[in-house]
Amino acid sequence: MSIPADPADRTPRIVRTAAELSAAMAQAIEAKAPEHGTATLGLVPTMGALHSGHESLVSTARAQNDVLVVSIFVNELQFNDAQDFARYPRTLEADVEILARAGADIVFAPEATEVYPDGRPLVRLDSGELGSKFEGASRPGHFDGMLAVVAKLLHFAMPPATLGVPVSYRAYFGQKDAQQLVLINRMVADLNYPVEIRSVPIIRSAEGLALSSRNQFLTGEQAKAALVIHRALVLVKERADRHEPLYLEDAAGLFDMEPLVELDYFELVDPRTLKELAFNCQDTPFTGEGLLLVAAKVGGVRLIDNMTLGY
Ligand code: AMP
Repeated sequence: MSIPADPADRTPRIVRTAAELSAAMAQAIEAKAPEHGTATLGLVPTMGALHSGHESLVSTARAQNDVLVVSIFVNELQFNDAQDFARYPRTLEADVEILARAGADIVFAPEATEVYPDGRPLVRLDSGELGSKFEGASRPGHFDGMLAVVAKLLHFAMPPATLGVPVSYRAYFGQKDAQQLVLINRMVADLNYPVEIRSVPIIRSAEGLALSSRNQFLTGEQAKAALVIHRALVLVKERADRHEPLYLEDAAGLFDMEPLVELDYFELVDPRTLKELAFNCQDTPFTGEGLLLVAAKVGGVRLIDNMTLGY
């Protein structure tokens, strides 16, 4: 089913199939192109259950493009835990309301059979060494599954070549999922995708917890305990800003004071390669650039966060 767009109330057009998406994009681009003879198209891929973090991606993409497509698809391939997939929140109606306010033109919400008509793809992308550390170490297959769907979504939303209008194509991802962003940038470079990847900063609660669709599974007490993640990141960031030694182990020690929070990793890496910068986090003053990655479990919920240092 697809609902026709109503320009008066900015209700986005909801499309379910790749063919409907292409037709809707062509129509929207043609409506915009006469203004400048060229057009820009932004894609924001999401799994729905939208919060202010997603809204920030959507409003950034809205401001930078003539036509804005937001996809909502809970991709089973990137869940290594069936229970996590089953309980992942699905809130399409509320999501569409948020997207109407944020000014999306088209919402692409396909069924799994549209994305994977023959079931699990036979030919798969391999996220390699980059995809097997940090999040990949705890969630085997997660990044291969993520790349599988992003590769397809980037194809689905590619501006139709038949229009005769040059269209600049951009896709937007959150810095919150830093490892995902690095891998997507590599995939786009390695496979020559004609798309520009743009990243958007992390949105946090007023207390500092990075927004995530999974935060709703935290009790009040757990959410409060989880703030140690931000405290530890800020402690190190302040040392970096003062060009002091980072003393990562000492900062990671903050987690020992929160029994509800189980630290998985707290690691300084190169922002582009995710290689550990062990030499730069011991007793010498910090110089250069780094990305501090953290993951922790609170109850049954896995939380990730990160902070860039030296910018
Ligand atoms: P998801 O629906 O969790 O797959 O996320 C869709 C996009 O929103 C991804 O590019 C995420 O990195 C981004 N995102 C999720 N949470 C946040 C946040 N708190 N701040 C900024 N971007 C976010």
